[in-house]
Amino acid sequence: MHVYIRSALRLAEVVYSGAMKCPFCRLDNDRVIDSRACQDGFAIRRRRQCLKCKRRYTTYERLEESTIKVVKKDGSRVPFQRDKIRRGLERACWKRPISDRDIEQTVASIENDVYTTFENEIDSRRLGELVMDHLRGLDEVAFVRFASVYRQFEDAGDFVEELRPFLVNPNKAPR
Ligand SMILES: [Zn+2]
Repeated sequence: MHVYIRSALRLAEVVYSGAMKCPFCRLDNDRVIDSRACQDGFAIRRRRQCLKCKRRYTTYERLEESTIKVVKKDGSRVPFQRDKIRRGLERACWKRPISDRDIEQTVASIENDVYTTFENEIDSRRLGELVMDHLRGLDEVAFVRFASVYRQFEDAGDFVEELRPFLVNPNKAPR
């Protein structure tokens, strides 16, 4: 059983229920030899051995859909959306020599941080800091530009709104 993971899934809520059927002999009886999180952190890979035919196989268990919320300044909560993060990074990296793949990887690691560090919700300010941390590692110019570029985009919506207090804080300003 291979399950491909697309987006926001949550490591903390893995539930394994019941035995797997052996793909070779169909027996409903196996033992788990080894379990580990996949590299992206969003799936659990298990090596199993059938107790009857002794053959080994691997399962990838899909994790539960995210329910993590972003707590905004006014106390309202909105679902965490990776697309917002992605759009933000794309704008910061505009005309920079940064590939789609780099952006995608950065989004994935931000997402991974969010799901492995926070339980049910994340403060919007904290999320902004997280994005900044990752952006700094991606491209210094994009990082430095972040504030000025974002403020010019009228349609940047909540994301910019959420980041603004962070961006105007001189203690957080780039060198
Ligand atoms: Zn078997």
